Amino acid sequence: MEKRQLKTFFVRTYGCQMNELDSELMIGALEKRGLSRVQEEEDADLLLFNTCSIRDLAERKVMGKIGQLGRSPHKRSLIGVTGCMAMAKKERIFRKLPHVDFVVGTNNISDLNAVLDEVLETGKQTIRTDSTFEENLNYFDAVRDDPVKAFVSIIRGCDKYCTYCVVPYTRGKEVSRPAQDIVAECKQLAAKGYKEITLLGQNVNSYGKDAPEWNVLFHDLLYQLDKIEGVERIRFMTSHPCDITVELMQAIRDLPSVCEFVHFPIQAGSSRILRKMNRRYTLEQYLEKVQLLREIVPNVSLGTDIIVGFPTETEEEFQMTYDIFKQIRYSVAFLFAYSARKGTPAFRWTDDVPEEVKQERLQRLIQLHQEISNEEMQSLIGSEVEILVEQRNKTESLKGRTRCWKKVIFNGEDNLIGSLQRVKVTGCNHQTLYGERLKSANLPASDSR
Ligand code: SF4
Repeated sequence: MEKRQLKTFFVRTYGCQMNELDSELMIGALEKRGLSRVQEEEDADLLLFNTCSIRDLAERKVMGKIGQLGRSPHKRSLIGVTGCMAMAKKERIFRKLPHVDFVVGTNNISDLNAVLDEVLETGKQTIRTDSTFEENLNYFDAVRDDPVKAFVSIIRGCDKYCTYCVVPYTRGKEVSRPAQDIVAECKQLAAKGYKEITLLGQNVNSYGKDAPEWNVLFHDLLYQLDKIEGVERIRFMTSHPCDITVELMQAIRDLPSVCEFVHFPIQAGSSRILRKMNRRYTLEQYLEKVQLLREIVPNVSLGTDIIVGFPTETEEEFQMTYDIFKQIRYSVAFLFAYSARKGTPAFRWTDDVPEEVKQERLQRLIQLHQEISNEEMQSLIGSEVEILVEQRNKTESLKGRTRCWKKVIFNGEDNLIGSLQRVKVTGCNHQTLYGERLKSANLPASDSR
């Protein structure tokens, strides 16, 4: 049999920032192999689908998309499935989608080229889905499209086992990356001109706990990274409220590069539902932490994730979630109706909140979130904000973000991209601020909106 030649590849990424970073790593590995990335699926000899398993809809989307390719009369590309769905479904992917050539799990990204060699050599379907992760990725090869902001992985996996979540099963237990490697990568990014680093992990606040001999916890890492010349902003995603410590709060207050935005996912407002979710905190404990954070970092903005319609959630319990949202006034919120995920403890429970009730609760929460966002955005009209200029948007204006993640649009020249600018806010909608750049850009140290 003649060995197939691969020249081009196309990657489609679904899901979270960790998947985006994994795609950047795989693009790097494929380009190192000599393949060229193309922007159209039709032009690719190799199609990679880096998938997400967090919600049923995400899985159905990608299954439908790959299923379509199997029915297409066009040229037959090699097809690989990577990411969380690869871990959740493993060999079942071949049964449902027999035209898929290989499956590579989240813990085997570094095996991508070896798997490709095997597929090309043998012509057989190949799978690598190890349950544990070994820190052996070449992060320096990652190919990033964004010239200003970069994702940097600091910990993979999760040990929390929330009862609704597939992540501990798709990404395995927590494995921290050595601090010296993270610092080296961030220094390299700064030297390349990157201005903003987002530290990634399923639970960044657990950083270092799996390797106590290093004696470096998450806040210690932030102190090391803050010293790097050229890195203007450091963000982190995502956090578990249990692991947000006083030391971390003080680091957010004291380190100039660390942005005053904390993703602090509550998930539900009732302690009974939180216990059923295995979130490991009560509502009271959560509120105490929020209060402490706001005392230590008064200008902090908060983000959250919320699931409505978790099994057995009553109307009163949903109302508690609604009231807490109103009380805390989250700036950023990812709101979802519960969907049962196979392999999780909650999958065995009756999904007893009717879909229309879930959707109605979700809509009420979305509406509240929009009202709060509107009020927050309106309150900024007339004020001056510091933004990091990221790129041009579709309307050819410049787009940037404040330290607290608010999108700002204004007019300006290309040479402003990658710089910190001061903008006077002149208008808004519930998602975006509009403004005018102020020419004398001496930024106040505490401008953190
Ligand atoms: S902490 Fe986050 S990633 Fe870990 S199990 Fe819970 S929801 Fe999933």
